[in-house]
Amino acid sequence: MGNDGGSIPDRRDLVRTKAKAEQADKANQTRARWFFCALSKRLLQEPIVSCALGKLYNKDAVLEYLLDKSSYGDGEVICGHIRSLKDVKVLKLTHNPSPDKSTPINGDTLKVQFVCPLTFKEMLGSVPFVYIPTCGCVFSQAGLKTVSRADNGSPKDDSKEASPVDSEKQYQLCPSCGTKYDQSQDVLILNPSPKEEAIMHAIMLKRRAAEPTKTKGKKRKAVADAEQPSTKKKATVNSSNTGVSSATRAVVASLAEEEAKRKANMSDTIKSLYVSKGGPKRKETFMTMGTFTRYA
Ligand SMILES: [Zn+2]
Repeated sequence: MGNDGGSIPDRRDLVRTKAKAEQADKANQTRARWFFCALSKRLLQEPIVSCALGKLYNKDAVLEYLLDKSSYGDGEVICGHIRSLKDVKVLKLTHNPSPDKSTPINGDTLKVQFVCPLTFKEMLGSVPFVYIPTCGCVFSQAGLKTVSRADNGSPKDDSKEASPVDSEKQYQLCPSCGTKYDQSQDVLILNPSPKEEAIMHAIMLKRRAAEPTKTKGKKRKAVADAEQPSTKKKATVNSSNTGVSSATRAVVASLAEEEAKRKANMSDTIKSLYVSKGGPKRKETFMTMGTFTRYA
């Protein structure tokens, strides 16, 4: 029946092999994540962008992917969550002041291109780095934390008036460019751990669900609404900006039916008006009151 070549790998063989491979690969993975584009696997070259999940890409690779989603075999897996250039931010990176000093990583010597502008720690995966998605500035996590802690103590001397909502959020000014950001939300980890990435993914989905623009979620909602006759109107509002779909067509058909019914009722009323005009049954309503007596 095939599959009887004599060696049957049991669970132990498979699991051990996998674990060993993972361990040996860890250094390579770190190097790949911090020095190479997550999509094209080419060396990172400015302009470099990052997404809501903190991955690093060459902007041209993301553009290529957006223009043709099949341009990279595993493009959908890696950046299926990137819908447009609006979903990525060009990073403002600080160049390594001593780029000639190359750091040997896993045998190879790759020049560490970027450093934290606050601590001058090199960006190579040994210390966590973050970026502010509102402005794109990149810092080491520790550096940004230190600065924002120091900022907390100083009184606010913003020329802009702070609304009550502003004061509720923990607004800080970017130490590099001065852009206002929310300390509790607007800091994204670059190349996060799987656990951190899961959290970032959940936050991304939550934010997208709250977006007012047309999304897949809205489309699904429109379909769901169309299935319930009581919420026809709501569905129409939603589907009006999601293009023609089968759901829309169903809604349009049901609305037409409703409109026909309404017209039928209207004609009855109008009929009654005509009947009352000069007819034996002089039925007066607020519409006919006074109107017809004028011509009588
Ligand atoms: Zn900034």
